[in-house]
Amino acid sequence: MVDLLILGAGPGGYEAALEARKHGMTVTLFDERPAGGTCLWVGCIPSKAMHHIAEGYRGIAHLQALGQPITVDPIDLKALWNQKNTAVHTLAGDVASLLQNAGVEMVLGHAQLTDDHHILSNGILYEGKTIIIASGSYPFMPPIDGIHLPGVLDSNHLLALSSLPSSLIVVGGGYIGLEWAFILRSLGVKVTIVEALPSLLTIADEDVSKRIQVFAKKEGIEVLLNVQIGGFEKTESGLRVKLNNNPDKVLEAEKILVATGRRPRVDGLGLEKTGVQYSPRGIVVNALKQTSVPHIYAVGDCIGNPMLAHKASFEGRQVAMHLAGIEFHPDYAAIPAVVFTFPEIASVGLTEADVRAKGLTYETKRIPLRANCKAVASAQTDGFLKIIYDENKVLLGAHLMAPQASVIIHEIALLYHEKKPLTEWKNVIHAHPTLSEIVQTMLQSL
Ligand SMILES: Cc1cc2nc3c(=O)[nH]c(=O)nc-3n(C[C@H](O)[C@H](O)[C@H](O)COP(=O)(O)OP(=O)(O)OC[C@H]3O[C@@H](n4cnc5c(N)ncnc54)[C@H](O)[C@@H]3O)c2cc1C
Repeated sequence: MVDLLILGAGPGGYEAALEARKHGMTVTLFDERPAGGTCLWVGCIPSKAMHHIAEGYRGIAHLQALGQPITVDPIDLKALWNQKNTAVHTLAGDVASLLQNAGVEMVLGHAQLTDDHHILSNGILYEGKTIIIASGSYPFMPPIDGIHLPGVLDSNHLLALSSLPSSLIVVGGGYIGLEWAFILRSLGVKVTIVEALPSLLTIADEDVSKRIQVFAKKEGIEVLLNVQIGGFEKTESGLRVKLNNNPDKVLEAEKILVATGRRPRVDGLGLEKTGVQYSPRGIVVNALKQTSVPHIYAVGDCIGNPMLAHKASFEGRQVAMHLAGIEFHPDYAAIPAVVFTFPEIASVGLTEADVRAKGLTYETKRIPLRANCKAVASAQTDGFLKIIYDENKVLLGAHLMAPQASVIIHEIALLYHEKKPLTEWKNVIHAHPTLSEIVQTMLQSL
């Protein structure tokens, strides 16, 4: 019997495995593909490799707009995928070595619980004192007529394209749809986003979701809101989206990306053979990530929102430390969230709608990026920092739209985590000229 069986080797599972080995536990880790999970193989890493490439193309477009006679050959998608694949395989090798050097036994193959103490994989039954389920999530494909037509893709299929489509309809204005919309638009694809709700990125702060729509339009991305999709149809040259509430609108493209969210992976795990409580919304856990069976834990996307790699990895480490008898309480309220659009969006804490719903007394302040010297110097002044704070000037939430927002947000997350009046940090000196000075401008304005 091993100390710990872990089902799923994404960020949640492999971080738990590494942490558990530090404390001397014997660990067997199961996955149907090499370690790394959605994040490494089809999520964070490939999409950010492509975001980086898109940024390069935007740099060229900017120089061309300044009158520089730069010409660019048509995009060779295979060459761009190579850079993405190099990044993915380098990191996959790193994770595999870390696990191997730590002495984690990795079992490659589908795995299923057979009862509260056993996992079956490749015909072998493994027994564990404790089990962690870290099975992740999968792309949700809504029951739309024609959803299985060739050319209708989810975010995994998109990574297998051999050439860039000339046009793409993105169904869903959440973060995955928006990231791919901005990346592919930067590479010259004609992009239309269709969203059933009245705004894009509905979970974001209202100012952010309003503004990202403006930015999308500026990029030449068509945005259709309040759309009811009647079905997808094949045409001679591609695909058509039928709109129930706008039947006269001709909406056609070479490909369709369905990005309507992700669902916790709870099927095919054998959960019904255990006492673990779960629903399509995820496995039910307490604050220690313990399921209804005390020695079975669950972490990451399979327990529901927010579905973020850094949340999954902290939960994995939290469980391993708990098993080792170490108190570890990550500040889950202060998890930063980033959307890699152009400009990037990053946030921490509550939105203004959350604060209103809680009935809190609050004020907001908005610093335009235009007030930042580095933003002006690099001709990237579209964006802002919005903060929401209470009567003691303690931060309740922050929402940033700016280049490098994914970097700047961590200083703000620290301020949020500290829960002290923001005025205490007024004298922290920021280097000039940097985009981070927007934080200093905000602090000095209070
Ligand atoms: C396009 C895209 C972009 C993203 N970008 C970001 C980002 O920028 N930042 C961010 O924080 N998050 C991002 N995410 C989300 C991030 O990938 C997930 O939140 C993260 O991977 C969750 O980690 P996890 O360990 O819970 O699950 P996963 O990474 O999904 O790992 C679960 C693993 O379990 C395995 N598994 C499941 N069932 C079985 C079974 N029965 N037998 C064997 N193996 C099994 C799967 O093969 C998988 O490897 C992105 C996701 C996508 C799709």
